Amino acid sequence: MSFETGTAVRDREESGAWELPEHLVMLRETLRRFMRAEVEPVEARQPHDSYALPADELEALRVKARAAGLWCLASPEEFGGGGLGLLGQVIVAEEAAKCRMGAYVPACGAFGIDPPSVIWLGSRAQQEKYGVGGIKGGKKNFVAISEAAGGSDPARKIETRAVLDGDHYVINGTKLWITGADKADWGIVFARTETGITALIVDRETPGIECREIGVIRSYAPYEVHFKDVRVPVENRLGDEGQGFAICQKWLVHARVPYAAGVIGIGQEALRIAIDYARTRNVHKSLLADKQAIQWMVADSEMELRAARLLVYQAAWNGVLGRDIKTDASIAKVVATETAGRVVDRCIQILGAMGVSREMPLERWYRELRIKRIGEGPSEVHRMVLARELLRN
Ligand SMILES: Cc1cc2nc3c(=O)[nH]c(=O)nc-3n(C[C@H](O)[C@H](O)[C@H](O)COP(=O)(O)OP(=O)(O)OC[C@H]3O[C@@H](n4cnc5c(N)ncnc54)[C@H](O)[C@@H]3O)c2cc1C
Repeated sequence: MSFETGTAVRDREESGAWELPEHLVMLRETLRRFMRAEVEPVEARQPHDSYALPADELEALRVKARAAGLWCLASPEEFGGGGLGLLGQVIVAEEAAKCRMGAYVPACGAFGIDPPSVIWLGSRAQQEKYGVGGIKGGKKNFVAISEAAGGSDPARKIETRAVLDGDHYVINGTKLWITGADKADWGIVFARTETGITALIVDRETPGIECREIGVIRSYAPYEVHFKDVRVPVENRLGDEGQGFAICQKWLVHARVPYAAGVIGIGQEALRIAIDYARTRNVHKSLLADKQAIQWMVADSEMELRAARLLVYQAAWNGVLGRDIKTDASIAKVVATETAGRVVDRCIQILGAMGVSREMPLERWYRELRIKRIGEGPSEVHRMVLARELLRN
């Protein structure tokens, strides 16, 4: 069943005038029930900064998620996924982010790991091994673009080389800030070949790959990844040689939209926590909820979240219609990440010391949201994309 079809119904609850297809309204309700009843209680038992559930508890959750039809929802149905288009993916991202580890581990991993959608543009063998392997076998992946010379300008700055040697490429170089590289089963590595940047699928166990953890503002550390004479069969090339960014472009652009939706989910959840608190906390002879300074923080947060959400939904919808959403995705990414950062900041203010304590998820989200304005392209680069579009065309 495609979730992108169905009659449109007015969905006033959170999205203002936006009309979601009925299937997506139902999907959102299912996701909310699952998050509340299944994910939250398990996550509540984990340490504040954990980013993985114990293996047995994760497996038990995944069995339930599969039974509820909530499995690898962004992947094609023919390979065992949910077949969601971009608008559906946005709904999932928004709801799955509403847990303590949700900024980087949506739904604590309960809904499986969608392989990067670009894999479905690969050869049949690549689809089977890496795509279906991800959906059915839970195989994890990493994406290695950034390097020390500058992650925001990869086309010019990638120095990692892949040299053809018979029926193999030999990779040498170092990638930086690579999330999940240590525990992944495979990754997509962007390397410079004779004709330009080429995307290669690399099995993590290939000899010559070494990872070093880099401590950052979140507990989920990225890695410096060294490639020393790493031999990758030619059949693991994604697309043509020198066309790495061309084949991955649509995937990279589209991925920014659910990324933006996830931070909206966190902002909304932070606001819910702040509103609950303001309704019960009594200081200076009245509830926080009765003080205009607090009311305005709540009102501003709601207005900004609604505006950001509409941009995200609009970008997703244009994607569903097959339009080029490069600038839509940049706008949605910048507005959503900057909005969510402001909202969580205000919510912390409303809670006072409790806001920055590890009793609440707010301080963790505050730290993790800071990365969101840098990862998937810093805000300045997305503004540059938009400005170029406006000024040149
Ligand atoms: C926790 C974390 C996880 C990450 N995971 C991954 C991953 O899995 N895979 C991966 O490939 N990368 C990953 N990255 C890297 C991320 O994509 C890069 O950090 C990002 O693209 C920016 O690159 P940079 O840090 O090298 O900054 P630079 O390219 O050195 O840029 C520095 C700053 O300069 C400014 N700037 C850049 N360009 C312009 C411009 N044109 N105009 C004005 N200002 C500009 C921006 O403010 C930018 O933040 C991760 C980063 C972090 C922090």
